[in-house]
Amino acid sequence: MEKREAGPKKRNYESLIGLKFNSLTINSVERIYGKRTIANCSCQCGNAWQGAIEWVISGNTKSCGCQKIESLLRSRFKHGLTKHPLYPRWLGLMKRCYNKNSKSYANYGGRGIKVCDRWLNGTESRHPFLMFLDDMLPVPFDGASIDRIDNNKDYSPENCRWADQFQQSGNRRNVAWVHLPDESMPLAVFCKKFNKHRSTIIRRMKRLGISLTEAATLP
Ligand SMILES: [Zn+2]
Repeated sequence: MEKREAGPKKRNYESLIGLKFNSLTINSVERIYGKRTIANCSCQCGNAWQGAIEWVISGNTKSCGCQKIESLLRSRFKHGLTKHPLYPRWLGLMKRCYNKNSKSYANYGGRGIKVCDRWLNGTESRHPFLMFLDDMLPVPFDGASIDRIDNNKDYSPENCRWADQFQQSGNRRNVAWVHLPDESMPLAVFCKKFNKHRSTIIRRMKRLGISLTEAATLP
């Protein structure tokens, strides 16, 4: 017991309230028994941010995500990872959550949907995109898209899966099939289930770069 309380947990984090670390100002701290101390911060962009206080102090987390996406968009062609076939998927979810200019921001970042620490900030030695791969590889089938299990929760390993894809079936022409993790069904049946028109779903997927299920469940 004593041993567990030694070290960084014993720090007097209350003394940091009111201080600004990069874009984040610490408003309050919460000790959660057996877990990291959580800082409730406000970002200079106006968003609230909550997360591990060590990450704020160390500078691993510099903003609510708004600065991160800006630097990503500025430097998007400057490192080799951008060539990875899954990079656009990761960048896409970052944009939906943190880029106010993104077409789908209103349904994601605007609703408080965030990206987990691992995928947003990574660690000092590991790029967040690589941590996304650590958590989400392998991709079970070609063209699979990232799907959130609970639409009101964040992008995180616990809440994400590779899901649906639809493709023209080889032996039944003009019948598109939807492959969900647990079942497959014709696209028409899927559309009926969500009470959405096929063209609405497909247009959303193309415009917003989101998965079939997400396109079908948006209001
Ligand atoms: Zn911000």
